[in-house]
Amino acid sequence: MTKREKQVYQKTLLAQKEKIVKKLSQLSTESKEVETDIAQDLVDKAESSYTKEFLLSLSDSEREQLRLIDDALRRLPTKEFGICQMCAKDIGKKRLAALPWTPYCIDCQQKKEESI
Ligand SMILES: [Zn+2]
Repeated sequence: MTKREKQVYQKTLLAQKEKIVKKLSQLSTESKEVETDIAQDLVDKAESSYTKEFLLSLSDSEREQLRLIDDALRRLPTKEFGICQMCAKDIGKKRLAALPWTPYCIDCQQKKEESI
């Protein structure tokens, strides 16, 4: 993967993150219960109470996507980015362009969804 390609993915990831953050600021401040382990994990790791409040006010799917985006941003400077976290094969370029935060190739994603 070229440096240029990574820059494009980074831009997309940051834009998507901003979209979720902006959406949140437009939402009412009604509190939502935290039910998932992922959410609890994020909240536990959150350093400031502001971050905690922010995470608690997101829906589960938004929280999950935010988590995936942050993970992808962490992987971006490494060789791991663009590699399936399950089978270690390359994630297709088309798939990465559409979902740069995805940690799995299309095959593993399907297997994962089937197993639920
Ligand atoms: Zn895979």
